[in-house]
Amino acid sequence: MPIKLTFLGAAQNVTGSRYLLDANGVRLLIDCGLYQERDFRIRNWDPFPVAPDTIDAILLTHAHVDHCGFLPKLVRDGFKGKVYCTAATSDIAQIVLLDAAHIQEEDAEFKRKRHQREGRSGRYPEIPLYTTDDAQAALPLLNPVGYEKPVQIDDGIEATFYDAGHILGSSMINLILRQNGEQRKLLFSGDVGRWNTPILLDPTLFDEADYILVESTYGDRLHGDREHIDEELKEIINSTHRAGGNIVIPSFAVERSQEVLYHLNNLLIQDLIPHLMVFMDSPMAISVTRVFEKHPELFDEEMLELVRRHESPFDLPGLKMTPSVRESKAINHIKGTVIIIAGSGMCNAGRVKHHLVQNISRRESTILFVGYQAVGTLGRHIVDGAKEVRILGQHHRVRARIVQLDGFSAHADRDELLRWISALRQSPRRLFVTHGESNVTKKFAEFLKGKTGWDISVPEYLDQVVLE
Ligand SMILES: [Zn+2]
Repeated sequence: MPIKLTFLGAAQNVTGSRYLLDANGVRLLIDCGLYQERDFRIRNWDPFPVAPDTIDAILLTHAHVDHCGFLPKLVRDGFKGKVYCTAATSDIAQIVLLDAAHIQEEDAEFKRKRHQREGRSGRYPEIPLYTTDDAQAALPLLNPVGYEKPVQIDDGIEATFYDAGHILGSSMINLILRQNGEQRKLLFSGDVGRWNTPILLDPTLFDEADYILVESTYGDRLHGDREHIDEELKEIINSTHRAGGNIVIPSFAVERSQEVLYHLNNLLIQDLIPHLMVFMDSPMAISVTRVFEKHPELFDEEMLELVRRHESPFDLPGLKMTPSVRESKAINHIKGTVIIIAGSGMCNAGRVKHHLVQNISRRESTILFVGYQAVGTLGRHIVDGAKEVRILGQHHRVRARIVQLDGFSAHADRDELLRWISALRQSPRRLFVTHGESNVTKKFAEFLKGKTGWDISVPEYLDQVVLE
């Protein structure tokens, strides 16, 4: 029963998740991610390794752009099949893909102007990889399915989606391939979440699989617990309130912004922080929060209990959603301490820039980072202790208190990945370590080999393996 698996992304790198599977005369793509790392972005522009119209269906593990963000390009280039994913993934993917298209249109325009001014041409074409129209055209292909309900993808190919506990709607995909009375189980981990994450259920554990692809983003480190988050958040809010400044929280729209609300809500219920106005000042985060509210069936027990008690973090007293620019600007005129959650998470775009302009030079304000800051971003400069930063073309002295609050990761760490793998009752035929920086992937593979003695591989980009 030959099954051919080709690694088209997230192979010794973190983004661009795409695995091509040929079996039973059917061609599937598992995840359709955009490359985001600077060194690999050129691959977004390369001709796709197989003609997109030869792919019969796509299965998406979740709605992060590095797992679904290439879809509009593939559809424009000829893909016409169904895109299977959970309902919440479909809802969030619609928001994420339109936002990604918008960013690409803006970036292309910005580059075009800059290159024109500098009289040179860049590494990438000065056109968007795809447009808003392309993203719109991809959306009707999204085909929502439920968790733990086997879906017949094609003859002899059945897929089941299980909760991955990573972001709302995220899944691990179990594929069962049947041919001539034989069957093989392929398990795609997607991004593995963490146990006891706010709002979400824990990652699903599996007894068995013939072949496994497991992510390894944090396969070389341990996160530590989340217990300290409430404690630190309480101190930051109370001291900033006493000083009379604002708390600006640059935050990612998907999951992180909702988690921040969850923690604020906790503190407020326990009366550990004062009643302050909290602004969710990001149209995208607001839309994603609406998706959360639409899917209470995905909440964990603690979150359901909050909803039952009418204490949902999404109904936080003092919470104001500010979708319009006018409402956003009005925040600047409020006297007294407010909490502002705004995108982008790394400060390289979005409304958070305006709030930084208003607050970064005020000693009494706090800029609170709750996510990873990539090298080269404004957020990273600030976290690294820059004395002065350039925002919206102006220089600003950094006088505000800068805090980075750790513990928010949506990815399992090394031991949590091991916990997920250790649930298997028998060794798989082979396990592939993917979705990690090259050295991390190799280190994690060694670690797993030492723990399990299994046949473990670290595939490279474009590697092709035949699974027996
Ligand atoms: Zn993810």
